[in-house]
Amino acid sequence: MWGNVGTDRPFPACDSENPVNGRSVTAFSSRPSAAGAFLPSLPQALRNLRAIIIGCADMRVDPAHVLGIKSGEAVVIRNIGGRITPGLLEQLALLGRIGEVAGEVAGGGEELHIVVLHHTDCGITRLAGDPALLARYFQVSEGELRTKAVTDPRAAVAIDVALLREIPALPGEWFVSGLVCDVKTGVVDIVVPPARIRRAQTTGSAG
Ligand SMILES: [Zn+2]
Repeated sequence: MWGNVGTDRPFPACDSENPVNGRSVTAFSSRPSAAGAFLPSLPQALRNLRAIIIGCADMRVDPAHVLGIKSGEAVVIRNIGGRITPGLLEQLALLGRIGEVAGEVAGGGEELHIVVLHHTDCGITRLAGDPALLARYFQVSEGELRTKAVTDPRAAVAIDVALLREIPALPGEWFVSGLVCDVKTGVVDIVVPPARIRRAQTTGSAG
């Protein structure tokens, strides 16, 4: 698929003469934003943010289509499997820092919702026979790979939601949920229902 990478030919997407699906790449690059000419500044956009969606890079499960997200409502971070990997956590940390530097509270003070969206027939399941590759992706030992449940999206989404709950930097009052899209039916199943990332802290015992 990526046969041209690393050869003397340019990457196909950068080649304006190279048709993608019968259309010239310029057909994509020359169009105005689907949201219209006006897009808000970053601080303003952060105030309007409602959700952070972590999903798979798979072309069939674009979260904007699967979940019907409107422009500006969600930050979408996609990787192979929609998994909580060290690389994804780094992205989340950078995102938080961007909000700090921009001087804005994401969501304008409303609780954000983190959605982990996995799906059936995910390409990551086809890598199950390549434990070294997956171990590097998750930065775990090959022996620990079974804790990532790469062949079972329902188990995997629950594991990843649990991982997010353990991140102290995420505000406890935000919500988190785990969904699995069945690519055969298009139905999105709520595997982990929305709940606050952490329960409100009870006041410590007296004394
Ligand atoms: Zn996938």
